[in-house]
Amino acid sequence: MRILVISDIHANANALETVLEAADNYSEVWCLGDLVGYGPEPNQVVEMIRDLPNLKCIIGNHDAAAVNMLNLDTFNPEARNVILWTQNQLTPDNLEFLSNLPETIEMEYVTLAHGSPRSPIWEYILDTRNATENFTEFNTPYCCIGHSHVPVIFYLVDEQAMANLIIPDEFTRVTLTPRAILNPGSVGQPRDRDPRASFAIFDTEEFIWEYHRVEYDVYGVQERMRKVNLPKRHIDRLTIGW
Ligand code: ZN
Repeated sequence: MRILVISDIHANANALETVLEAADNYSEVWCLGDLVGYGPEPNQVVEMIRDLPNLKCIIGNHDAAAVNMLNLDTFNPEARNVILWTQNQLTPDNLEFLSNLPETIEMEYVTLAHGSPRSPIWEYILDTRNATENFTEFNTPYCCIGHSHVPVIFYLVDEQAMANLIIPDEFTRVTLTPRAILNPGSVGQPRDRDPRASFAIFDTEEFIWEYHRVEYDVYGVQERMRKVNLPKRHIDRLTIGW
């Protein structure tokens, strides 16, 4: 089975649409949270996600903030303003969908968690030390995470040793062996100096994890962000992906 794995869409409908068109031939979708926040189209994105076939979706910190499950003081002032704007935009139906999302999902081979298995809403796994500590926090061979907006694979060859990492090129196919922590990168706000939308395909028969990047209409999204007065810094960062 080919599974489309996406994360951190951040209310960027055009990026999501482009990814869904580029990722052909998948029968299931795993969405690792942060459907909203930063971008101009929170309702459209939540509705597109809700319509996906065989969806498994978990909550991210921006989603939790949008449904008032988190104290907004934990966000910087710009992000907080966008969360307040997002709260006003979201329809009752979409708010309810977000508030019912689980923090983690555990399946036969894979655990899904937004930030990390140890602290799903908050922790960033950015380095091998952090990753190594998190390998004891999930029971499955693999764990899919998002949150950092950076595509990366952390893997263990020996349970007693430090984790290693792979930073993928534009198109990387990795045959997985247990155990690994896999980040597909961000659809709507990449932060690895590549502005293109990032996603992964997980082939669960061959255990192959495949990275993809796809160009979307960044300028159009920035125009729509300007129209609704979203912060300039959030608009600018989409140009180069930081
Ligand atoms: Zn995010």
